[in-house]
Amino acid sequence: RIVYVNGEYLPEEEAKVSVFDRGFLFADGVYEVTTVLGGKLVDFAGHAKRLWRSMGELEMTPPCTEEELLAIHRELIARNGLEEGMIYLQVTRGAADRDFAFPPEGTAPTLVLFHQEKVIAESPAAEKGIRVISIPDARWGRRDIKTVQLLYPSMGKMMAKKAGVDDAWMVEEGMVTEGTSNNAYIVKGGVIVTRQLGTEILHGITRAAVLRFAREAQMTVEERPFTVQEAQAADEAFITSASAFVMPVVEIDGARLGTGTPGPVATRLREIYIEEMRKAAV
Ligand code: PLP
Repeated sequence: RIVYVNGEYLPEEEAKVSVFDRGFLFADGVYEVTTVLGGKLVDFAGHAKRLWRSMGELEMTPPCTEEELLAIHRELIARNGLEEGMIYLQVTRGAADRDFAFPPEGTAPTLVLFHQEKVIAESPAAEKGIRVISIPDARWGRRDIKTVQLLYPSMGKMMAKKAGVDDAWMVEEGMVTEGTSNNAYIVKGGVIVTRQLGTEILHGITRAAVLRFAREAQMTVEERPFTVQEAQAADEAFITSASAFVMPVVEIDGARLGTGTPGPVATRLREIYIEEMRKAAV
């Protein structure tokens, strides 16, 4: 695999980042995951916009321009012959003597990109739907910033695995925030319910597109919090993320939703999303 690190394209064995990198020492970094379909990028503009917002909120210096970042993504796709999968990108505040205070101005940020091949559009999981448990949301308070502090979501995923299911939905003050690495939705009487944007959840790029497509298809969307009990009584549920697209959820904390198979709304939205994103990919 060829990866990108600070201006160079290298075989992964030769790529190096300093042990003093603040991403490594303080999780002082932000990231994005952009899907590749048919060798093209899905919603690159949306991911770039969120990346610049994340960097801005943390007062990080962008390592390059948006056009340069697009060119790096394309070069990585070309050099690896990637048809379908993901491009992961991470920006950190760079390497400096270990100090809680940010390093001096002029410290070069670190930029790393690599790809992972993955079949996304023809996913067997989407045919069956996934099962989730609920867990407390123990993350920090600025989940709208896409930082690399992923230890709690990682622990949440392990709690799900140990419980024999696929993922966990996090709950704060009695309300579902989101999944470990995705936004959460329920559908009742044809109405799609998902938590409103705020600092409590990541502003999903897939979420924005899916809600737009739902409204264009005359579906009703309510952006408000919901409880696990309301979710268990829903007709169907689903999650969205760049790497899962729209994925039906068929069970929450052991309670089967509806018929226990992917619902019509999630199935339709998945079809629309894949069709539209294939067309719009750059
Ligand atoms: N919420 C969290 C906590 C995530 O980590 C992610 C994606 O990684 C999402 C939501 C979905 O965001 P997106 O659709 O931009 O991939």
